Amino acid sequence: MVCCCGPLYAEAVMAQLEMTTIYQSAGSTAEAAPGIERSTAKPVNARDERPLYAPRVPIYPKRAQGPFRRIKWAVMAVTLGIYYLLPWLRWDRGPSLPDQAFLLDFANQRLYMFGIEIWAQELYFVTGLLIIGALALFLVTAVAGRVWCGYTCPQTVWTDLMIAVEHFWQGDRNARMRLSKQRWNFEKIWKMAATHVSWLLIGLATGGAFVFYFRDAPTLAMEFVTLEAPFIAWLFVGIFAGTTYVLGGLAREQVCTYMCPWPRIQGAMFDEDSLLVTYRAYRGEPRGAHKKGESWEGRGDCIDCKQCVAVCPMGIDIRDGPQLECIQCALCIDACDAIMEKVGRPKKLIAYDTFRNLDAASHGDRAPMRIIRPRTLLYAGALMLVTVIMMIALSAKTVLDVNVQADRNPLFVQLSDGGIRNSYTVRILNKQYETRRFSLDIEGLPQSSFTLLGTNGEGTPGIEVAPDNLRTLKAFVTVPRETATTLGSQTGFEFVVRDLTDGTETSRETVFRGPEK
Ligand code: SF4
Ligand code: SF4
Repeated sequence: MVCCCGPLYAEAVMAQLEMTTIYQSAGSTAEAAPGIERSTAKPVNARDERPLYAPRVPIYPKRAQGPFRRIKWAVMAVTLGIYYLLPWLRWDRGPSLPDQAFLLDFANQRLYMFGIEIWAQELYFVTGLLIIGALALFLVTAVAGRVWCGYTCPQTVWTDLMIAVEHFWQGDRNARMRLSKQRWNFEKIWKMAATHVSWLLIGLATGGAFVFYFRDAPTLAMEFVTLEAPFIAWLFVGIFAGTTYVLGGLAREQVCTYMCPWPRIQGAMFDEDSLLVTYRAYRGEPRGAHKKGESWEGRGDCIDCKQCVAVCPMGIDIRDGPQLECIQCALCIDACDAIMEKVGRPKKLIAYDTFRNLDAASHGDRAPMRIIRPRTLLYAGALMLVTVIMMIALSAKTVLDVNVQADRNPLFVQLSDGGIRNSYTVRILNKQYETRRFSLDIEGLPQSSFTLLGTNGEGTPGIEVAPDNLRTLKAFVTVPRETATTLGSQTGFEFVVRDLTDGTETSRETVFRGPEK
């Protein structure tokens, strides 16, 4: 499956595919140089063998060795470390508040992220964070292709972990293939059982870590040990254990190829200047086996050893050109570099490259990479804008929320003395963890008076709002008949809530309604 984004990109892809097609039929039957392992790996998506409905071809990726494999180990350690350990990090917020650094407290409708506390009414902050994440992903994809898929996507990380476990119990590619083909005997049973039990334990740890994000981790862990954890916690541990086992252990590359929408969307973010893992066909073709001491004249550097296919977790052949299945993990670069080193040819026959440079190189030229271009500027600009807005909004976050709602049924009532009265519902949300007292006044409505329902009893000054609590009051605002006749049907004014301790004021605009003049 080829995804093209622009004429140059399309031409480069077609040239790549044509070259591959021509030279595939011209493959040599000569023997491999000594010390070079030749793999019989066939890409699972070979273009000449792709039926509409096909059973899954099992993939047994060989373990690659090299810098990209090391980067992937490091990213796996960091991402899994964060996921499993974050709920155990503590953050002192004072007495009576949770001390978990990251907590989604559904019961109290709060999200705690270290020093930031987001209330249910402030969900737009979470939306903002998601937008920042999406824009960052667009930017990274435009610059360096599917690095998210290849290195940090949870599906990739957990699948990598499951493959590492499989490798630990069953050995590398050839041993795993042999084991899968051999008849069921004691060796096969214990190796398979050990693999699947390990996957299930990883699934359980994953599900267990997930629920710790929603409740105090040490408390919930103790409840699990004493079997006192709520049913919903057990349920989610079970769901996550099952999905981790199935998606990471069993389904693996099928999730990326068939279930995930991102490979279909990301084609719109690349262009001919995006860095993608690419086979340099202009250098590799014509491919064919190579004997030690044989000349390299008139042939390409690819010795058709298929090590790039053997290490590919998606089971594809990068030499077939850009493919939807390719998660850009770069393990084929490691595999091919090792081969190039052995045969004494320059590395980077498979490399991160742009289609612009690939096209230029096939004409003996070079095209330097352009990171700064309209597409990346657009994504970077949008990312910066949303980040700045979010930072301003976060720094302006208040510890008091006031909401005023004018009652609409009826819009107003006429009193026996001719005065006009409107009623309002005033809500004061105290987001601090101490009792606060407020005064309530109105400004901008001449000769008005108002009465409040729902205030404190006699002798308590101001409106008392308990810590971390909402207080709802009813306000009746009246203007005398003479004033009402001059005001008309709508007059704007403000409710002003003043903190009696520190004097800070919060105003809310509303409207006073009366009869038409
Ligand atoms: S691209 Fe490299 S690893 Fe793949 S078959 Fe050719 S020489 Fe072997
Ligand atoms: S072709 Fe290479 S980069 Fe793409 S998924 Fe396979 S190993 Fe990773």
